[in-house]
Amino acid sequence: MRPGFHPRLINGPFDDPGLFISFLFQNRAVIFDLGDITCLPARDILKISHAFVSHTHMDHFIGFDRLLRLFLGREKNLSLYGPPGFLKNVEGKLAGYTWNLADKYNYPLSLQVHEVHPRYMLCRQYRCRDRFQPLGDPVEQPFTGILYEEPAFRVSAVILDHKIPCLGFSIKERFHVNVIKAGLTTLGLTPGPWLTEFKQALYNQADPASKFEAKFDRQKPPKHFILGELADNIARITPGQKISYITDVMYSRPNRKRIVELVKGSDHLFIEAVFLDQDREMAEKKQHLTARQAGHLAGTAQVKQVTVFHFSPRYMEEEPLLRQEARAAYESSSRQEVETGLDGSDR
Ligand SMILES: [Zn+2]
Ligand SMILES: [Zn+2]
Repeated sequence: MRPGFHPRLINGPFDDPGLFISFLFQNRAVIFDLGDITCLPARDILKISHAFVSHTHMDHFIGFDRLLRLFLGREKNLSLYGPPGFLKNVEGKLAGYTWNLADKYNYPLSLQVHEVHPRYMLCRQYRCRDRFQPLGDPVEQPFTGILYEEPAFRVSAVILDHKIPCLGFSIKERFHVNVIKAGLTTLGLTPGPWLTEFKQALYNQADPASKFEAKFDRQKPPKHFILGELADNIARITPGQKISYITDVMYSRPNRKRIVELVKGSDHLFIEAVFLDQDREMAEKKQHLTARQAGHLAGTAQVKQVTVFHFSPRYMEEEPLLRQEARAAYESSSRQEVETGLDGSDR
């Protein structure tokens, strides 16, 4: 199976956290957290359509400026999501610059900012042409766990406790369309951006009897198909891919429950492992997870793959220990029943 989402940590495990997820065959990406993103090439940053910010501690939000700098003067809509207080945080960032010439840009940038509360979201728009003055009062929208949804995928969140509200995220494809190479070859087709259109038609539940035009090669004329017949020949449907991201949380019972529910069965979980378990008192004080706790959560949630990050610099010389501790806890917890994992020992 060729995955549709390609997640990668933006920085090394001792640097600012953040996950960049690009989409196969699409000039598009989403990002979880906006810490230092100077490592990301501009062409990747410009693919971002949605930015999800767990909380606004500096190591998770300083990259907003870089994002804005690159998007400025472009015809783009950028959606941002963050915890309670997020509108003020964004407004504070925007208020830090002078925008007297901003209405002269040819291409209008627009920011849709969403502040997530337990039962609702406050949404507000800021446009470059208005010098980023908010467009009207915040509009309230219901929040039932889903932050954003389109036919192909959805992004869910839970509000976790880090002494302040902190969001955990999960992105899930509705189903996965595997393209069968042999089928393409038989029909004289080559892979390319047209496959996105083809998949979109399937996600939109287009009539299988409808016509589909495959513009597979700029040099050649497009080929015409009946959508359902084309799908039978080149596509195999499997369960959708799920990627989850958890950082900056204390290891409390309510957090554990919410995390396991959100990330359950993920193909890939990215989770912080700031301290070694021998320093768990420090972890508790600083509202972070130890590697063992991270591994335990990953195993309990039966995720298929786990990557740990956000290591404390105190372990600069002991990086393998953090990974080993997380792996051992993950492997032993995966073997246990979910029930035992949730209700068992606190560590
Ligand atoms: Zn952090
Ligand atoms: Zn934090």
